[in-house]
Amino acid sequence: MKAVLDHVGIAVRNLDEALAFYRDTLGLEIHAPEDIAPQGVRAHLVPVGQPALELLEATRADSPIATHLERRGPGLHHITLRVDDLEAALAHLRARGARLIDEHPRPGAEGAQVAFVHPSAAHGVLVELKQAARPRSSLTTKRLRWGALELVSAPDGPFALDGGAMFGVVPRPLWETLAPPDERNRILLSMRPLVVEADWGRMMIDCGAGDKMTPKQQDIYGLDRTRHLDHALADADLSAERIDVVLATHLHFDHFGGATCRRGPTLVPRFPRARYLIRGAEGEDATHPHERNRASYLQDDFLPLKAAGAIDFYDGDQVIRPGIRVVRTGGHTGQHQIVFIESGGRTAVFTADLIPTTAHIRDAWVMGYDLFPMETLAFKRQFIREAIEREYLIFFEHDPLVAAGYIREKDGRRFVEQVV
Ligand SMILES: [Zn+2]
Ligand SMILES: [Zn+2]
Repeated sequence: MKAVLDHVGIAVRNLDEALAFYRDTLGLEIHAPEDIAPQGVRAHLVPVGQPALELLEATRADSPIATHLERRGPGLHHITLRVDDLEAALAHLRARGARLIDEHPRPGAEGAQVAFVHPSAAHGVLVELKQAARPRSSLTTKRLRWGALELVSAPDGPFALDGGAMFGVVPRPLWETLAPPDERNRILLSMRPLVVEADWGRMMIDCGAGDKMTPKQQDIYGLDRTRHLDHALADADLSAERIDVVLATHLHFDHFGGATCRRGPTLVPRFPRARYLIRGAEGEDATHPHERNRASYLQDDFLPLKAAGAIDFYDGDQVIRPGIRVVRTGGHTGQHQIVFIESGGRTAVFTADLIPTTAHIRDAWVMGYDLFPMETLAFKRQFIREAIEREYLIFFEHDPLVAAGYIREKDGRRFVEQVV
């Protein structure tokens, strides 16, 4: 079993006296209290680096904290170890004859599942085991009318990448509250390709990771293929066969892996009728990878398209179909581009890896993956200003919860008003 220290619980008789020490004397920041009604306890979390302190007061006479105070007075109450799988940890302890207070997990603070081990099994210390609540992703298919166009956000499922790499030079204490990392330091992301339905046909912008990855790669990237792009398309009464055009923002596997699929021993275009639109210079870069981008450009994602004669290469910023305009940002890759979707006087922008999640709306929050971060910063600074002023609807391709929203600014603080 692997476990990390999560917090140390301290029973307090008089909260004001405890705060006088922890908050006023030590000068620590104290979170707003949380009531854990089933246990008759109110908890005040005190962040102190990775593990926290937790000040616990009784809210009922029969709560375990009240009992503890009565028997032993105030002081150290429990330590909490965080585990990946609480049921498995309890089974592990049970098999070794450890005495448990809770045979099964029960709800704890912050949506976690917890269970207590009896102090007699832990040399006099009350040990709480905790399985933290996973940030849930919202991956439903969403449809939105956009002028004369119909937009369908069609998720290809969740995945996970190293949190540090996702936020570049931003220190972990700043990003971890927005994107809590798992035990392997990965944060939860999603892949959200976008379908545009127009009178000229159906365009798919990016197409997710697809299903060619080995179990080992799936584990590394936390891919969960229970629900993927095919399901999302079916939800919108669509299918791969009904897509006319596939447009790539760039050819990284999490954006373009879904372009091809296996049929028996061969790889074929996933969208059998579609023309695949790829910026020529991005195609060049992807087929001539170097040490720094080799893990992101998987040849199986695009070489079979070339063999099938399904690619239309183009060069430069342009209106690629009525209402669909591509603009090179550079930065993330040399030819990374975003897609402007303009109809009825309204502008939506599919920002791909320029603003991958809502946490990246700060100018300097640039991914460590970017090949040319200063280029990203320069483009982003100007683009976000424009997006706020002209109210562009922004599609966040990798956000676990928000498919699209408006970036707003109030009193110098930026936030996203979710639309879908
Ligand atoms: Zn990328
Ligand atoms: Zn990406």
